[in-house]
Amino acid sequence: MKYFYDSKYLITTGGRVLKTITILVPCYNEEEVINIFYEEVVKIIDKIDYNFEILFVNDGSKDMTLNKIIAMRINDSRVSYVDLSRNYGKEIAMAAGLDHVTGDAVIIMDADLQDPPSLIPTMIEEWEKGYDDVYAKRSSRKGESFMKKFTSHCFYRLLSKLSKVEIQKDTGDFRLLNRKAIDALKQFRESGRYTKGLFSLIGFKKKEILFDRDERAAGKTKWNYWKLIGLAIEGITTFTIMPLRIATFIGGFTGLFAFIYMIYIVLRTLIVGVELPGYASLVSIMLFIGSIQLVGIGILGEYVGRIFNETKNRPLYFINKYEGDKE
Ligand code: UDP
Ligand code: MG
Repeated sequence: MKYFYDSKYLITTGGRVLKTITILVPCYNEEEVINIFYEEVVKIIDKIDYNFEILFVNDGSKDMTLNKIIAMRINDSRVSYVDLSRNYGKEIAMAAGLDHVTGDAVIIMDADLQDPPSLIPTMIEEWEKGYDDVYAKRSSRKGESFMKKFTSHCFYRLLSKLSKVEIQKDTGDFRLLNRKAIDALKQFRESGRYTKGLFSLIGFKKKEILFDRDERAAGKTKWNYWKLIGLAIEGITTFTIMPLRIATFIGGFTGLFAFIYMIYIVLRTLIVGVELPGYASLVSIMLFIGSIQLVGIGILGEYVGRIFNETKNRPLYFINKYEGDKE
């Protein structure tokens, strides 16, 4: 019998070749929760007949996260890790992880158990039915403030209004992707990454499953409002040039209004004669036009800045150490 799998992954039960699934976990300062995460995941995957790889990406943690991962690897050869040279943020950490996936499919999960491992078997089932991208949609989010839920809700609606590809609402990065999808994602080497959008861009057959998002098991969220606003602007500007068009429309509209007003003023001056008062309207029009111009320049700047960042074509990340089965 001939296998096209590397002998390392070859485990057969009753002559069947087991497929390998990589669980990809970006981690940044997760020492409090990473062991609990590992135990919970192992409980689930020990019950199913697949080969597993648990691939941690240590995103420049400043605590004991890496040491804990190394200790896990010593006890469990299914654990592998990529140690990045510094903190790059979750988006880049996921990209680094995808580059090192050895499995036939990958499941991307947060380390804080907000993405329940109990969903893993369901995802695999759907994958076996032939879906390329099985994503988990939140039907509720516990332990998150009203403001965070509300702003996230508005953002997803806005983004889907603005961009041409449909971006799944209320969906995180928690999903299973097959080889086809992984290889597609790996081709995006842009440094300004909005991975949730990339999942939509690649297309393929998608399947949605619903879940209740729990609170963080331990530790603190790494996000603050500034980071979230940054990600939101990233999401919009990397996916659509609609803001530029809106600026053009507003410019056109105010220009038209100004032109009509100009004709009115000129005619009135010709007919009624020169009239001095008008200081208030003059100043408010100046301020209004001025601020619109500044907003326009700001929007333009966002795109120019992005062009600047992408044209440098810098490497996405550097690796301090990789331990795993990828050649
Ligand atoms: N994360 C990361 N790099 C960062 C920030 C976060 O790899 O710079 C990881 C983090 O360890 C976690 C996941 O991304 O596994 C989600 O982070 P977090 O739980 O803080 O975000 P939230 O769930 O609050 O959106
Ligand atoms: Mg979280």
